[in-house]
Amino acid sequence: MAVQSHDARWRRPGIANLHSHAFQRAMAGLAERQGDPADSFWTWREAMYRIAARFDPDSLHAVAAQLYAEMLEAGYTRVCEFHYLHHAPDGRPYADPAAMADALVRAARDTGIRLTLLPVLYMAGGFDGRPLSARQRRFGFDVEGYLHLLESLRARQDDMLRVGCALHSLRAVPEAAMREVLAALPEHAPVHIHIAEQVGEVQDCLAMRGARPVEWLLANADVGRDWTLVHATHLEEHEIAGIARRGAVVALCPTTEANLGDGLFPMRDFIVANGRWGIGSDSHISVSPVEELRWLEYGQRLLSRHRNIVATPSSPSVGESLLRGVAESRASSTGFDDGDDEWLLLDPDAVQFAGATDADIADRWIFAGNRPLLREVRVGADTPVVDGRHRDRDAIAARYREAMIGLL
Ligand SMILES: [Zn+2]
Repeated sequence: MAVQSHDARWRRPGIANLHSHAFQRAMAGLAERQGDPADSFWTWREAMYRIAARFDPDSLHAVAAQLYAEMLEAGYTRVCEFHYLHHAPDGRPYADPAAMADALVRAARDTGIRLTLLPVLYMAGGFDGRPLSARQRRFGFDVEGYLHLLESLRARQDDMLRVGCALHSLRAVPEAAMREVLAALPEHAPVHIHIAEQVGEVQDCLAMRGARPVEWLLANADVGRDWTLVHATHLEEHEIAGIARRGAVVALCPTTEANLGDGLFPMRDFIVANGRWGIGSDSHISVSPVEELRWLEYGQRLLSRHRNIVATPSSPSVGESLLRGVAESRASSTGFDDGDDEWLLLDPDAVQFAGATDADIADRWIFAGNRPLLREVRVGADTPVVDGRHRDRDAIAARYREAMIGLL
């Protein structure tokens, strides 16, 4: 039953998912066995490459549709897709070089989520400029081919699709290529980059470029409010201040960062510096803004042995502070305006809200239990989630199951 419009206190802005690799939804839960006592991000990456090698446009469409339906049911109404699975597994372009990107666009349109497609420029296997390995070959583009892809995709932009630019990382994009691509972008195009996720990456950057990754990027690119730095886990004080001063957004992916053993972002210092931030589900071992936000706060509590870390005297509710943080980065990181046609309706009848007051709705939503508390999700002219269920949940799941048989 639809809740009347006077129940505005149960209505919240839709949440932006600032970082997604859709294909990785297919490997969630499949990298949790110890292979080597020294397992790390780098051994996880090998497992990820094995499954990445099996995708084609049809299986990517099936997996992305399942993922996007899950996102909508969880309250994500727009997603930034950091897309690098460009070519056929042997590295040769498909007849249509945008075939894999198109699979993501179709999945978004089928499910009703807004998509910010970020084709990834991925050119080198390390800071020393070494060529891509056999497993990385399907990710590679030269600058000319990349800009051509961006242009062809931009022609398709509409109310449900934005196209931005992703630089995979400093280790995968040589400096000259970075400068050429950035110079060719339209004004205010969102630019995303993985940065300072791993200590090894910080050390390599120091050795090869004489500066830490964030330090180097701020000195060599016109980083501003249109930029989203993904992870930015390992920062020194001057880098925290530098990101905040430029107004760039940091995309935090707490469940993935925990799953991969990356480390903890210095959230408290970044908030004190007035830094802008958002969340992403990245590898999709969790597809829940509630869990991302909860662990963003909990990681800091465990580290500092204090409570209510992201709250401030002017914003004492942790839940409200978290939701305000994600709302403030929603437009610039995705390239979509902040329209009032994208919202979530919480379920006022949920037992977690018994006796709720305006002051504690957000805290109950984020911190009370694990039952989904959304009744309805609206995106543009569409209501893809009603009574907590995506309208095509069963058909999408059936196609996903079939695709998984071919992928595993
Ligand atoms: Zn990523």
